[in-house]
Amino acid sequence: MPYGYNGKILRVDLTTGAMKTEEPGEIVYRTYLGGGGLASYYLLRELKPGIDPLSADNILIFASNVISGAPIAGMTRFTVAAKSPLTGAYGEAEAGGFWGPELKFAGFDAVIITGKAEKPSYLWINDGKAEIRSAEKIWGLETGPAQEMIREELREKRARVALIGPGGENLVRYACVVNELKHVNGRTGMGAVMGSKNLKAVAVRGTKKMEMHDPEKLREMSKNLTELISQHDPNKVLHKMGTSNLVVPLNNQGILPTHNFRTGFFAGAEKISGEQMVATILKGEESCYACSVRCKRAVEVSSGPYATSEKHKYGGPEYETLGSLGSLLCIDDLEAISKGNELCNRYTLDTISAGVAIGFAMECYEKGIITQADTEGIEFRFGNPEAMVKGIEWIALRRPGLGDLLADGVKIAAARIGKGSEKFSLHIKGQELPMHDPRGKVGLALSYAASPTGADHVRAPHDTAFQAPGSNMERIAPLGILEPIPARELGPRKARNFTYLQFIWSLYESLGVCNFVAGPVWALSLTRLVEVVQTITGWETSLWELMKVGERTVTMARIFNLREGFGRKDDTLPERLFEPLESGALQGVGIDHGEFEDLLTLYYEAMGWDPKDGVPTRGKLAELNLYWLDEFVKDRR
Ligand code: SF4
Repeated sequence: MPYGYNGKILRVDLTTGAMKTEEPGEIVYRTYLGGGGLASYYLLRELKPGIDPLSADNILIFASNVISGAPIAGMTRFTVAAKSPLTGAYGEAEAGGFWGPELKFAGFDAVIITGKAEKPSYLWINDGKAEIRSAEKIWGLETGPAQEMIREELREKRARVALIGPGGENLVRYACVVNELKHVNGRTGMGAVMGSKNLKAVAVRGTKKMEMHDPEKLREMSKNLTELISQHDPNKVLHKMGTSNLVVPLNNQGILPTHNFRTGFFAGAEKISGEQMVATILKGEESCYACSVRCKRAVEVSSGPYATSEKHKYGGPEYETLGSLGSLLCIDDLEAISKGNELCNRYTLDTISAGVAIGFAMECYEKGIITQADTEGIEFRFGNPEAMVKGIEWIALRRPGLGDLLADGVKIAAARIGKGSEKFSLHIKGQELPMHDPRGKVGLALSYAASPTGADHVRAPHDTAFQAPGSNMERIAPLGILEPIPARELGPRKARNFTYLQFIWSLYESLGVCNFVAGPVWALSLTRLVEVVQTITGWETSLWELMKVGERTVTMARIFNLREGFGRKDDTLPERLFEPLESGALQGVGIDHGEFEDLLTLYYEAMGWDPKDGVPTRGKLAELNLYWLDEFVKDRR
């Protein structure tokens, strides 16, 4: 009997309605763990290359992992994966909340969904049983009322519901999936894949108690971790301000994305900061399953044009949203940003991509490429909160004209508009840039460029975490990284750091571990994480074995993309990031083209990939026990 996981994966064919349970065996679980590892394993085995991501041929995977559901802080996340409609590449997004553990309690570790339902449907998984139910009455509803109706229909208030709103139904290419109305699988358009399958929601409920290998020791470890979290300064800050605590420090460092990445300094930063949120609209802190950090925000704007819904049920903006709907657009109105955040959760739009799409439109407006004739008379200028809020609605509803255009993402929008607008479309592989300017932390530039999902800020820690001696350095010492490295240094030391640390970050995604409990916040050290996995699963595992899972997962995503035609030409940055920042602490600083290309070559070589196109060597595939994938890439060498 497995400890920590069920050993069962649910398969659902929406076209035929057939369902079955698969038991892949311990070797598969130990080789891939869950999350991104398990999802990329199944996608590579079963998804045909070249398919349309919005067709019935796409495969949608909800994957928990071998440890989620254990009663310990920060081990709660789950992955939704498929071929991305935004990038055409590997698509994956993680979310916290309660849905992942609940799936485990319902008796399954993952759900693999194929085909397309004839009519709007939702999936109900309840204590080892599953059924496909009609969603015709809830299709078209925003997430709040849809979740309520599903719970009423099932007569199960405690059902955890991962669902889409109109953004997903309307196939906005960056539609997200939301659970509990506020925990979001944000990136790469997994909500659009649900919409394309006529799948409104996956509701789960379970009462199974997961068996742990050593429950006594786990209880002790959980108690210790909770105590550590209560004394750990970074966790105290997260509890008080959430990730919104980053707005002011990043602005002071000159890397708060502002004016569509033209500068890293925003004069209105304090007005949209965590401090301001605490002083005005914050109503409380919320949490994910079993986590004492409670870093999630609950905000309420009680009146005025940006009044939010009752009982702050859609949460509150985190740092990324304060950037994408705030500083990026030069908007210093915290109430409007909170409204924008709520709308994105009601409609299921990724706030990062939505903000960057609106920033693109604002710059086009500034340059006269689009005019008030395109914006229904609204001044679509930087700093106008009305344009941001309207923009979100138009995108989600694919309103003919600007909304429909921006709903396909900035890469496609710029290709359609032309007139030089490509310069303002800030994306990598089609995915819009997150709210961290890599001109001030250049290892992040490599992380953005090499990421299989397009620009993504959680593929590895940011350089600023490891530029000074101190506790962060001690935390990565078990990897043999012993020297601090300046945030703006490019070269071999940075290539080595990124190569190793991306394995750890990839491991977190396969294990559902939260970055705000493990690194880069580090209440939980790497050594302790290994102990947690041993205690839950009973495996005599090691940091070496777990890092290899991280490396295997990164390599599988690479092969997925190579198979789809991606290569070195796609591992690049938007031209704007090579240009100097216009103001702030790093005024005049850009990324050097030649140094960046050399760093990319070093990274490929460090990975055991050929430097020409980043194709893994046969030896590397053999070493990772991935030789079965050689057939997909041998012609690319
Ligand atoms: S630290 Fe925050 S995001 Fe992470 S599990 Fe805890 S409450 Fe959720």
